[in-house]
Amino acid sequence: QSKNAGRNTQRFFDPAMQAALDEHSALETDLRLALKRQQLRLYYQPQMESTRGLVGAEALLRWVHPERGLVEPGDFISIAEETGFILPIGYWVLETACAQLKAWEGNPRTHELQLAVNVSARQFRQPDFAVQVQQVLAQSGADPTRLKIELTESLVLDNVSDTIIKMQALKAIGVGFSMDDFGTGYSSLSYLTRLPLDQLKIDRSFIRDFGSDANGAAIVQTIIIMGKTLGLNVIAEGVETVAQRDFLDRNGCHAFQGFLFSRPLPLADFEQFMNLNARLH
Ligand code: C2E
Ligand code: MG
Ligand code: MG
Ligand code: MG
Repeated sequence: QSKNAGRNTQRFFDPAMQAALDEHSALETDLRLALKRQQLRLYYQPQMESTRGLVGAEALLRWVHPERGLVEPGDFISIAEETGFILPIGYWVLETACAQLKAWEGNPRTHELQLAVNVSARQFRQPDFAVQVQQVLAQSGADPTRLKIELTESLVLDNVSDTIIKMQALKAIGVGFSMDDFGTGYSSLSYLTRLPLDQLKIDRSFIRDFGSDANGAAIVQTIIIMGKTLGLNVIAEGVETVAQRDFLDRNGCHAFQGFLFSRPLPLADFEQFMNLNARLH
């Protein structure tokens, strides 16, 4: 290896950095084929309300790699974005989520569930993104009002007017929008009021910190009040303890998602969770 390094200026002398680069290109090669080889899965993490129980789920992508096992999005979403693979992958996520919503329609335990999907900036900025979502909804026959799209502040702020146009096109057919990881970006009230949002999702970092940090509690309370003032549903992500859930509940947070209730689950396990937790409507 060190001999090669002497001849090849492309190689790094720092073995840790070289290992990271090799790892990155190995994942990139494998990711190219992951979709075709049917190695991608959607996991479902329950979203709960105090009085209504299970109200929905967030669809979270997993990659079942033949040698590495289950790979989490933190290890491959950025590669998918850099390479552009995120476009077919994101489309597959939408198709799979909508097919699932359609499948849940006939069951009284599931017909009112909402399913949230994450959308990356590169995917959302495609000129025909809204048309793609409309097509997937139409082809699947899923009820658009059951689908929720999660956007991040950085995505939104990168081009507010383009964002609003696309959101409005999808709002018009009933699709909902949630602002993911809320509080981590440069949120300002002025743009929040301009966006046709349905939900604010308080970032996990604030939930994690508020027990140990007095400011943390104030931030969470402020976000909840802000969301309610704007007429939005407020959900907290990363709820891990009863104390966190109770604090959020006392302060008027509408919904909760986190390991306290369940980790993200493969479909069969989610459906089992649902049978135990869903109310019949
Ligand atoms: P996110 O959208 O903010 O998703 C929430 C993340 O928090 C998930 O990580 C979830 O497993 C984790 N989480 C939920 N509850 C708890 C908790 O109580 N404690 C802790 N410590 N963590 C919790 P995950 O599944 O690894 O996803 C990471 C990120 O990858 C997501 O963050 C999202 O930005 C992105 N992602 C996931 N699926 C997709 C997808 O289909 N498309 C795109 N573009 N991005 C995705
Ligand atoms: Mg999310
Ligand atoms: Mg989030
Ligand atoms: Mg987050």
